[in-house]
Amino acid sequence: MIDSFNRNIDYMRISVTDRCNLRCRYCMPDGIELCSHDYILSFDEILMVCKEAIGLGIVNFKITGGEPLVRKDCHKLIKKIYELGGVNEVTITTNGILLVDQLDDIIDAGVKSINISLDTLDREKYEQITGFDQIDKVLEAIEKSVEKGIRVKINSVLHDKDYKEDFLNLIKLAQKYPIDVRFIEMMPIGLGANSMLVSNEDLKKILETSFENVSSDKTKHGNGPAEYCRIDGFLGAIGFISAMHGKFCDSCNRIRMTSTGEIKSCLCFDKQISLKDALKARDSKAISEILKNSILEKPEMHCFEDKKRITELKRMTQIGG
Ligand code: SAM
Ligand code: SF4
Repeated sequence: MIDSFNRNIDYMRISVTDRCNLRCRYCMPDGIELCSHDYILSFDEILMVCKEAIGLGIVNFKITGGEPLVRKDCHKLIKKIYELGGVNEVTITTNGILLVDQLDDIIDAGVKSINISLDTLDREKYEQITGFDQIDKVLEAIEKSVEKGIRVKINSVLHDKDYKEDFLNLIKLAQKYPIDVRFIEMMPIGLGANSMLVSNEDLKKILETSFENVSSDKTKHGNGPAEYCRIDGFLGAIGFISAMHGKFCDSCNRIRMTSTGEIKSCLCFDKQISLKDALKARDSKAISEILKNSILEKPEMHCFEDKKRITELKRMTQIGG
């Protein structure tokens, strides 16, 4: 569906849980106040929403959280979304900890592309960032996913003074594997507001001074706003998602649904419309109307550069990052 600013909204991020098995220091270092399971949408409810979203032209879905793979039988939901028909792609964003165990089920469900979050390759630092000494599981998940033919994208949010070292180490993953390694600028959402913002412009300069043959890659890599480049001899690409320094709102294609059934059309603002009553009544027309209104009311752009105007106070894991 086309929104009020002539953008085609064809992508929906669905948070299936607010829970997580890691405690990333810029996301939920002390956990969050969990909402009761009664408030979390059932698979049946999520599917009702997906069906109406498809009717409005949404063809790509991202399953996220919290950590989506802590939700039991996540792969069954994915399979059922595909079975609704009219879907182009269902993908997942995960921290990778539970991925190896669930990989075959996820592939059987139809997933071909997985985003894995990893902010450093240093074991100790990984533990400092996430609270757990689990980096081996993530590295194994990357390797196994590539082996099984999954399109893997690494998402890294660099956020401290040693970022240059982390950056140069992380891009080596794209040297070794045919995967995209992408750097997402920290957004002032939740604790991100108090974290160091590493500019992608700085990272691009580091790339150009560290490698001789860096070229821009204009091919389409997915549904998002990343810009890509390639380095001679690397199997994969390096991507930059410049949420702060490269406003890409004019090409924004998405809405989000929280795990409790709130539809959000922009990460920056607290405006959200609840689907709960419509879902309880199993009123498909009302669900569709809410989705439609949310798309029509989607703001023109975020205002992350002006913290005073940001109204979203929830954490990323409560919104569905
Ligand atoms: N648990 C899953 C994971 O880590 O991939 C999915 C949810 S997590 C909220 C999704 C992504 O959002 C992660 O890559 C995380 O690093 C990123 N993220 C969290 N807070 C952020 C912030 N303030 N700015 C930018 N990215 C953020
Ligand atoms: Fe969990 Fe993802 Fe947040 Fe880390 S970024 S605490 S893995 S939800």
